[in-house]
Amino acid sequence: MNPRSDRPRESGVPHSMPLPATGPRNLRGLGVSSGIAIGVAHVVDAGTPQVPEYVLAPEAVAAEVKRFHHAVEKARRQLSKLKSKAGALPDAAAADVATLLEAHQAMLSGSRLIRGVERRIAEDRQNAEAAVQQEIALLAQRFAAMDDAYLAARVDDIREAGRRLIRNLLDRPFQAFSQLAEGSIILAEELSPADTALLDPKRIAGFATVLGGAEGHTAIMARALGLPAVLGAAGLLTGVQTGDIIIVDGRAGRVLLNPTPDVLEEYRQRRALWRAEREQLKTLAAVPAVTRDKHAVTLQANLELPRELDNALEVGAAGIGLLRTEFLYMNRDDLPGEEEQYEILRALVEQMDGHPVTARTLDIGGEKLAGPLRQHFATPANPALGLRAIRLGLKEPKLLETQLAAMLRAAAHGPLRILVPMICSPGELRHVRDMMGIVARRLQRRGEKLPDTLPKLGAMIEIPGAALSADALAQVSDFFAIGTNDLIQYTLAIDRGDEQVAHLYDPLHPAVLRLVQFTVGAAARARIPVSVCGEMAGDPRYTALLLGLGVRDLSMAPGNLPLVKRRVRTLDLEKASRHAETMMAEVDSGRIAALLDDFNDLLG
Ligand code: PEP
Ligand code: MG
Repeated sequence: MNPRSDRPRESGVPHSMPLPATGPRNLRGLGVSSGIAIGVAHVVDAGTPQVPEYVLAPEAVAAEVKRFHHAVEKARRQLSKLKSKAGALPDAAAADVATLLEAHQAMLSGSRLIRGVERRIAEDRQNAEAAVQQEIALLAQRFAAMDDAYLAARVDDIREAGRRLIRNLLDRPFQAFSQLAEGSIILAEELSPADTALLDPKRIAGFATVLGGAEGHTAIMARALGLPAVLGAAGLLTGVQTGDIIIVDGRAGRVLLNPTPDVLEEYRQRRALWRAEREQLKTLAAVPAVTRDKHAVTLQANLELPRELDNALEVGAAGIGLLRTEFLYMNRDDLPGEEEQYEILRALVEQMDGHPVTARTLDIGGEKLAGPLRQHFATPANPALGLRAIRLGLKEPKLLETQLAAMLRAAAHGPLRILVPMICSPGELRHVRDMMGIVARRLQRRGEKLPDTLPKLGAMIEIPGAALSADALAQVSDFFAIGTNDLIQYTLAIDRGDEQVAHLYDPLHPAVLRLVQFTVGAAARARIPVSVCGEMAGDPRYTALLLGLGVRDLSMAPGNLPLVKRRVRTLDLEKASRHAETMMAEVDSGRIAALLDDFNDLLG
């Protein structure tokens, strides 16, 4: 597909819509991954992917109708999000875009399209994707034949609504980005974490999207890959074409479309400075992470993808503090087996050469269900509160047992700890420990090599209820890892992936800090290790505060590790602890932020 041949458009808006001429434009969004990318735009065309066609077994019909309804529901949510983003556009454009999105929404509510697809699934036993495609083709044909210019023009709307449904049903990346020219910048309505995982930083210079929040997994993946990225940029796809020159400033949260030569030159210089700073930071890899008053701090790396391991080693990470195993389930149609998982984990453990690896069991669920799992579970109304992480693992013990078996075997090759996400009560962790024992005995009977003692089993503290009962959880856990991303999300009731409430996502809210403080205290009382592995750990702004609260282990995206190490080496722990006490006496997060920034300014 050659998007150059399309008229420029906001994705989800038909080609017939009037659009401004292409020229220099500056847009604001959320700077989620710092750095400056200058390159050629590749506008992700939300085209129709290849659809599978098959006949359903009679007993599969009801589940297929349900799957279709979930895709429709998701499409409605996407459209209302796009509509609220459109409010940030200039008045006339906002009204046009809203009208068109409403037309698409209408097509998804009790319409002929929906009824036609339901009939095809129920009566013809067609799979949902094929049913949508054929119903769209039929409706488009009928509309195009009408002797009414307005109705004929609605054909594009019908096709667009159908494409959205098919994409939602397939839950696949829009396209393989591997064929893009070096230095391309991806512009899209939305990129899923799985889409983002396919971006090769050697080829792709950066990306920007209309939707997405600063702490969602797409943002985390961008930081993991070291790709400058801006999310939540309203109007991004209006009046831009593949081939246009784009600047993405991932720190300031700016996207500049077709910049003037002066602006381009200015950003080239800024990019050179940023690159030079990155090079300079590499020299920190070999120096220890100790404060000025000689307290050692452990800085480890979070890994989203095994290919980040080289970066982790390059920056001198003292281990992998969080291995998110979700990558094993992404962009595929089947489930990874024990052997495959074992081989990947073993390679990681061996390459870490004696440094510990903390492997987290699967944290997938709700809307994030990977392809092979999606078919078994309905998308709940509140995905973040639904069948996610350990809840899924305990409901589907085979899934968890396979992972535990792979992890136990990998632990025979080097230090490996097992971390369980979204733990809420001691019973859940006890259950996992029992399963680990059963799996270990099964592996022994099979003659597999296991470590002399079973790996340490830890709980992620990322639900407020878990933090508040950290004393009880500490009795059954070998260690804690505080996941501030979810802890903030659930404490403040802010969807971490929603750009509309991103301004309310506040790591310095006193409620969040008190939960962190209480968890650290509970770990100390029970004499178990505690680390922080949420995004707060990788932001040097928070280093003094976290150390002041008693944290000594931080795990973060490899790219952030040198920045945090530089901060550790400039601060005095005794002073940081006293300052943290002052901050904890405050009840207003604005005041806490001011105190923290004052302290950081003194460090320079
Ligand atoms: C967290 O919630 O802080 C965390 C580290 O886990 P994830 O971002 O993968 O949910
Ligand atoms: Mg989490």
